[in-house]
Amino acid sequence: MDLLEYQGKQLFARHGVPVPAGRPAATADEAVTAADAVGYPCVVKAQVQIGGRGKLGGIKVASGREEAREHAAAILGMDIRGLRVHEVWVEEASEIEGEYYASIVFDRSAHAPLIMFSTRGGVDIEQVAEEDPGAIATLHVDPLLGYQQFHGRRLAFEAGIDADLVRPLTALLEKLYAAFVGEDAMLVEVNPLIVTPERELRALDAKVTLDGNALFRHPDNAALRNPSAEDPQEQMAKERGLTYVKLDGDIGILGNGAGLVMSTLDVVAQAGGRPANFLDAGGGSKADAIVAAVEVILSDEKVRAVLFNIFGGITRCDEVAKGLIEAFERVRPQVPFVVRLDGTNDEEGRRLLSDAQLPGLEVEATMLGAAERVVELAAATPALEAR
Ligand code: GDP
Ligand code: MN
Repeated sequence: MDLLEYQGKQLFARHGVPVPAGRPAATADEAVTAADAVGYPCVVKAQVQIGGRGKLGGIKVASGREEAREHAAAILGMDIRGLRVHEVWVEEASEIEGEYYASIVFDRSAHAPLIMFSTRGGVDIEQVAEEDPGAIATLHVDPLLGYQQFHGRRLAFEAGIDADLVRPLTALLEKLYAAFVGEDAMLVEVNPLIVTPERELRALDAKVTLDGNALFRHPDNAALRNPSAEDPQEQMAKERGLTYVKLDGDIGILGNGAGLVMSTLDVVAQAGGRPANFLDAGGGSKADAIVAAVEVILSDEKVRAVLFNIFGGITRCDEVAKGLIEAFERVRPQVPFVVRLDGTNDEEGRRLLSDAQLPGLEVEATMLGAAERVVELAAATPALEAR
């Protein structure tokens, strides 16, 4: 789960990482109230989960009330690389003497958190990594030992920062590490980490990714969802208890069991098609789950054909067939369906389907045959506007 900048900064603040004071706002009026509270000059920052907002016009400095209103009005509702701005963060402006970079990410191959630090912050760090990898100091932290002062000193000396900043940096990294571990984060990134003229360090930006599987341990964080960034279909599926991932092709996929769905994606790709989604209806899929799944798949306008690949173990193919028949009655799909049923009660399931004579539904005997057929049908089905 990715946080917005200000949510990340509030999380940092809980762990003592220095951040500028600020307030969120969803309207120009709220932004003015926020600006009055933080004082002038202040910075109005678009809250969307994307970097490079500065260059794209999503960050503006306001020297007074009128400017704060103008900037907030201009930024709210703005489209930044396809993301609509619903909120701004208004914070006290900072004076910048230097821009550094700091991050902690979990390095799975090393089974340990990795701290990265560079004096070349404020810019695209991927570019620095490419042009001058030596400019980024890196260090793994043994998770059992935890962060120790020497980690910070090593990074500081390797990156070559001024002597007076070594202690503040070591202290800041300790807090950042505490935030990373304490909040079950997968990534915390500060770019830029600024040096003020008073020689203090502050996190001017925050990028935080939390481990979604650990959210049950952090109810406050779990409540931080940013629905505007979530895909509407994925949200709909979540509400219905289905495992659904949206992809960018045009063939809707449903299977029971993650392994089967994954291999179905592969076989569809092998047959020359492009899956529109990954939908696992789960073991023991009952009719209701099938109806919900069909609704989710068809809510994606890019879908031109649907492949149902069911291997009946605990799942009974006759149950799936009944679910499909019910779904066709309720939803009346406008695109062709190809169904492959194999395993427990498959004959019964196929008999139910052929008796029902569902319009546009074909049954195939094998997974490869079904994949090839659905690719053909998708290619022959016009896009939604033309239907
Ligand atoms: P990003 O472009 O989305 O990564 O947004 P950042 O929060 O990193 O801001 C981008 C740039 O805007 C920073 O590198 C700063 O140079 C500038 N900036 C942001 N806030 C301030 C501020 O309070 N004062 C000044 N002088 N510059 C700022
Ligand atoms: Mn940034």
